[in-house]
Amino acid sequence: MAYIEPAPIKDKENPFESMMSRFHIAAQTLGLDDEIYNVLKSPAKQVLVSLPITMDDGSIQVFEGYRVIHSNILGPSKGGIRYDMGVNLDEVKALAAWMTWKCAVVDIPYGGAKGGIRCNPRQMSAGEIERLTRAFTSALIEIFGPDRDIPAPDMGTGPREMAWLMDQYSRSYGRTENAVVTGKPLVLGGSLGRQEATGRGVMVSALAAMEKLKINPYRATCAVQGFGNVGSFAALLLEERGLKVVAISDLSGAYYNPKGIQIHEAIEYRNKNNGSLEGMEGAEKIGGDELLELDVDLLIPAAKEDVITIQNAERIKARLIVEGANGPTSARADNIINDKGIMVAPDILANAGGVTVSYFEWVQNRLGYKWTGERVNRRSDRIMKEAFDNVYRTSIEYKVSMRIAAYIVAIDKVAKTYKFRGGF
Ligand code: NAD
Repeated sequence: MAYIEPAPIKDKENPFESMMSRFHIAAQTLGLDDEIYNVLKSPAKQVLVSLPITMDDGSIQVFEGYRVIHSNILGPSKGGIRYDMGVNLDEVKALAAWMTWKCAVVDIPYGGAKGGIRCNPRQMSAGEIERLTRAFTSALIEIFGPDRDIPAPDMGTGPREMAWLMDQYSRSYGRTENAVVTGKPLVLGGSLGRQEATGRGVMVSALAAMEKLKINPYRATCAVQGFGNVGSFAALLLEERGLKVVAISDLSGAYYNPKGIQIHEAIEYRNKNNGSLEGMEGAEKIGGDELLELDVDLLIPAAKEDVITIQNAERIKARLIVEGANGPTSARADNIINDKGIMVAPDILANAGGVTVSYFEWVQNRLGYKWTGERVNRRSDRIMKEAFDNVYRTSIEYKVSMRIAAYIVAIDKVAKTYKFRGGF
C-alpha cells in the first residue's frame, strides 16, 4: 500500500497527528485503497474568517474564527464551536475528523465538523461575546444550516451562545430555525437528557465492557479524573449501578476514599463551592497523577487530552479504561496499555452519547415535537450498547484493540457510503 506515513509520533501529540496515526493503522488493517484513504483524510472544507468586534470600551478588536467540515458523506456535518486562546486550524481539523468517526461509530446520519474562535471568553463581557457569536454566525451563514452544517457547544461555549447563534441565523432567513444548532436551552428546543447524555453514554459503555470482562459492578471500584459535565454524571450513574467510586478529581486536586465517595454529596458540594471540589471533606487529598495509577477496576479520564502517556502508562493498574474525555490517551501510550491487557473503550465510542442526544435534539426540532426524558435515555442507551457490541465484535474479528476497531467501523462505513455516492 502506498500511503504516505504520518509524521513520527511524539508523546505530547498535536491532535491531528494523534488522530492520523490511529486512522493510518485502521486503514491498513481494513485494506482501504489509496484513493479512498486520501479522500477520507482530507477535510472537505476549511473556512477562516476575520471578525471585527466593537468592544465595550469603543475599540475595535479583530478575532479569527474557523470552521472545518471534515466530511459530509454520511449527512450534514456536525460539531461544536470552541472559544479558547489555543484554537488553531490544526486542532480544529483534527477535532472535525474526530466528529466524522464518532458519528459513524454510533451510526447517526451526520458527517463531522468543528469550529472555533481564538478568544478568551473569561475576559470578555456577555455583550462582547454576544456580538462575537452573532458576527461568526453571520460570516458563516452560507455554511451553517439544518441540512448542511449543524454546530453545538464545545469548550468555552454553552446553551447561551447556541441561543444567539440560532437567533442570528433565524433573523437572517426571516423564520425560526431551531434545528440549525444543538445544545440549546430547553425553552428554545433543547432536548431533555442532553445535559447528562455524555456521562450516561460513558456509563453504558463501562457496563458493557465490564460484562465482557466479567467484572461484577457491585464489587467493582472506579476512579474518575475530571468532575465537570462528563465526569460527574458518569460517576453518579455508575454509583447508582453499584460501583464504588473511590477517587474523583478536578483542577483543585484529587480526592480518595477507599470506602467510596458519596457522589451526589460531592456534586452538591461542588455546586455550592463555585464549581470546585476544593476543601471537600470525607476523602484524602492525593496527587492528580496518583489517581490515574490507583489499583481500581475502572478508570475514567474525563478531563482533558494526553493524560495517559508513555510517562505513566506502565503504572496504570485499572483493568478497564473508559474515555470520557477526547484524546486522553496518547497514541504511543496505546501500545503500552494494550500490552498490559487493559481494555479501553475509546473516546470516539465511549463519549458519543453527547452527539447522539444532539442528533435527537435535531430530530425533535425537525418534527416540531418533544420527547420525554425517558424516551431520550432509552434510545440513546440502545444506540450506545449497539455501537459498543459492534466495535467489540470488530476487535475480535480483526484481532485489534477496541480503539482501532472503532476506527475500522467508522472508516469502513464512510468509505462504503462514499463508494455508493461516487465523486467527480
Ligand atoms: P467541563 O469543563 O465540564 O469539566 C472538566 C473537568 O475537568 C473540570 O472538573 C475540571 O476541573 C477538570 N480538570 C481539568 N483539568 C484537569 C486536570 N489536569 N486534572 C484533573 N481534573 C482536571 O468539561 P466536560 O464537558 O466535562 O468535558 C470533559 C472532556 O470530555 C473534554 O475532553 C471534552 O472534550 C470531552 N467531551 C465532552 C462532551 C460533553 O458533552 N460535555 C462530549 C464529548 C467529549
